[in-house]
Amino acid sequence: MCRREDGQNTAEGSELKVGDKVNSRYQPKDLYSKDATLTEQDIQQALRALSLSGQVVCLHSSLRSFGHVAGGAIAVLRAFLDEGSTILVPTFSSVFEVAPPPHLQFERNGWNYSAASAPNHSSERVFTPEVLDIDRSMGVIPATALAWTTHMRGNHPLDSFTAVGPQAAKLIGGQSPSDAYAPLAALARMKGFVLLMGVGLERMTLLHLAEKEAGRTLFRRWANDAHGRTMAVEVGGCSEGFGKFEPCLRPVMRRINVGQSKWTLFPAAQVLAYATAAIRADPQITHCGVETCERCNDAVKGGPILSPKQVQAERRALRREYGELYDRVSRLLFKWDPIGINFEHNTDEYEPEVGTILPRLRSCASAEDVQRVVYEEFCRWFDADLAGPLESYEQIGRDIWAEIRGTRWSGEPKSSA
Ligand SMILES: [Zn+2]
Repeated sequence: MCRREDGQNTAEGSELKVGDKVNSRYQPKDLYSKDATLTEQDIQQALRALSLSGQVVCLHSSLRSFGHVAGGAIAVLRAFLDEGSTILVPTFSSVFEVAPPPHLQFERNGWNYSAASAPNHSSERVFTPEVLDIDRSMGVIPATALAWTTHMRGNHPLDSFTAVGPQAAKLIGGQSPSDAYAPLAALARMKGFVLLMGVGLERMTLLHLAEKEAGRTLFRRWANDAHGRTMAVEVGGCSEGFGKFEPCLRPVMRRINVGQSKWTLFPAAQVLAYATAAIRADPQITHCGVETCERCNDAVKGGPILSPKQVQAERRALRREYGELYDRVSRLLFKWDPIGINFEHNTDEYEPEVGTILPRLRSCASAEDVQRVVYEEFCRWFDADLAGPLESYEQIGRDIWAEIRGTRWSGEPKSSA
């Protein structure tokens, strides 16, 4: 269950214990003192000890866990930025949630449509990445990142992410209402990290992306689109059970104490691969254990059943988001025709598959990754027998990878093309 998808186990994880000398400039005694006031320099030293300088890092944090930090959340963020790192934080904003209209009330959506559980607000506001609203529950560090003058916020009315630092545009650009976790897929693709600072795995949003990669449809909630009409947007579910992933992720995680704060560091791509495999092997692993938890019960069953209209609307949004890549991938699938449905006139036959393959390509870093993703999606849409062996997807993987390399992902700066 805790194996990588390629069947190999790793032993690269390690735990830094109090007193470990991780490099010569590191002064564990001062950093680990529970009474000491932490400074920006202490945090910079910890980042160097974890080799996070210049990296992209998704933070889930509790500032209170640090004890006292001179300069507070600003000092914490400055430490990352002074190290040349780019930070990514969740900046959710439930104030933009509206009640579901009848045509967007999907079944198995982790939602009780009776009046009792409908959102209280009938917001007429329209979210844009320029607004500064954020839920108080997100904590001080995300709120501070959102207040940073150079921040970039993703385009999702309820579950936006915000990034600060040199790679911010690359991380954030792909987020859209129907692709909530594009920033995390980009993080994995860019070989970035998730750092839990004084919080547990229950806060690791990346595990919701693993649910999607394992084949679940994520829940839909509701907000206004740019024209003020209600639209359904993709969101995560209950994460109270995510502590159960710990044995599975232990091989790749590192721990360090910084002041009173217990930090755990994870490489995003490995977490995604391990957790996706774990969910496939045992869908109950995500369940929080509360029998009446509608979100967990519905997620384990595969998530909401979207209407054909909703699927079409999201496909149109994908086509807008991915531009030419959508048509090129569609054409390649038709050309190689893995399951023999090319009757020459039906060139859009593989569009449903394209719709689920494209968002996953954001986390691919090689032709082999693409091959595996296309194979897994065909197993999902058809079945393993019809999909055939993984090996028969080698050429498709290579061709699509060549297309990706020649394509600028939406939101990425031109210089990175
Ligand atoms: Zn639950």
